[in-house]
Amino acid sequence: MDFNKIMVAGSGVLGSQIAFQSAFFGYNVNVYDINDDAINAGKDRVNKLQGVYADFFKDEGKAEAALGHLSFSSDLAEAMKDVDLVIEAVPERVDIKQDFYQKLAAVAPERTVFVSNSSTMLPSDFAEFTGRPEKFLALHFANSIWQNNTAEIMGHAGTDHQYVEAVTDFARSIGMIPFVLKKEQPGYILNTLLVPFLNAGLTLWANDVADPHTIDKNWMISTGSPRGPFGILDVVGMETPYNLNRARSEQDPSYGVIADKLKAEMIDKGKMGISSGEGFYKY
Ligand code: NAD
Repeated sequence: MDFNKIMVAGSGVLGSQIAFQSAFFGYNVNVYDINDDAINAGKDRVNKLQGVYADFFKDEGKAEAALGHLSFSSDLAEAMKDVDLVIEAVPERVDIKQDFYQKLAAVAPERTVFVSNSSTMLPSDFAEFTGRPEKFLALHFANSIWQNNTAEIMGHAGTDHQYVEAVTDFARSIGMIPFVLKKEQPGYILNTLLVPFLNAGLTLWANDVADPHTIDKNWMISTGSPRGPFGILDVVGMETPYNLNRARSEQDPSYGVIADKLKAEMIDKGKMGISSGEGFYKY
């Protein structure tokens, strides 16, 4: 099964990267977003990515050619014309994704395969809205996909395996290293490992057992890892761990202690991580 024409839904942080990566590797890509303002913001993002790809792959010609493979539309039916594969990267909200899949199912050709880039939701949350549960699965990318080139591929119980294979081949064809999960798992492989690890570090800090640099140094020397939990948190940024611990604090107040400390000592002081020039370390 060959995917020739791709549609990427949502031209935000990840959608723009997925669209550019696919175009860079030769696919024709339609980018869909909700209105002209969103499309213009998406165009700005892909224009910036041209420079990033030219530098990273040391190939200005190929990065420039990628722009020629991209077209943009806020008309869903037009964006879906002749599309073989839809990669959904709309906001991480159940209502928005459900509504999107229902509208998409109404205009998509029957043969079209849908994949979701959702970080926290499962394909089974949306399968019934797609009108093609057997052709629906997750294809999850990491931010900065040109260098962090993992693709986690995960079907739900009703996904036909031939589409898992086809999506795996597609991921490989755009320079990704595919990781196929055998069953649904919230957080896939990476975040199933990473989230508890980072929270274990944050708990040691919030309970005043040791300071961040001591915790990282112990981990790095003991395991040979290049970064400890706080070095990784500076890459991730403070927003996501704060939101996660704040949400969990409704069930368990110990998460609230972490959220309060992240807010008071990091977020309120503008120490957001590498993106702001300072987090647990200075950059
Ligand atoms: P974002 O907010 O940067 O972009 C979302 C885009 O979707 C925006 O361009 C918005 O205009 C558009 N949009 C809003 N409603 C829409 C609709 N109904 N139909 C089509 N487009 C719509 O979000 P993001 O960070 O790119 O995240 C998108 C998805 O990718 C989420 O599911 C998220 O979990 C996942 N993801 C994000 C990251 C990350 O690091 N940001 C990493 C991996 C996966």
